[in-house]
Amino acid sequence: MTFSPFWDRCALRGERIVKRVFRASSLLSVAHARNVLIAAGVPCELRNIHLAGAMGELPMMETWPQLYVDDADEQYALSILARAAAATAGDPWTCEECGERLEPQFTSCWACGRERAR
Ligand SMILES: [Zn+2]
Repeated sequence: MTFSPFWDRCALRGERIVKRVFRASSLLSVAHARNVLIAAGVPCELRNIHLAGAMGELPMMETWPQLYVDDADEQYALSILARAAAATAGDPWTCEECGERLEPQFTSCWACGRERAR
């Protein structure tokens, strides 16, 4: 099994279908992902934040903090998380046009509008 935090499937809770869209060993990462979703207006639920003590009895990844959203929000939530993950990767860059120093999450220069050279 190849591990990807994004493609886990399905948990049923009552009549409501929720999907796990994110999990990580670090609560900080999951809390950050939760903030990203909340900022985008996607309701989400953080689980397993107190399960660390159960480690050793459960498969390790099952004890990791996890983030769930409604089934209907899954694709949107995944796209937001993927974009956020891409945005935090990489280094700051410098605009070829005006020399402005830019954070990696910007795809074009906010000062002059030039697209980032790839
Ligand atoms: Zn510029």
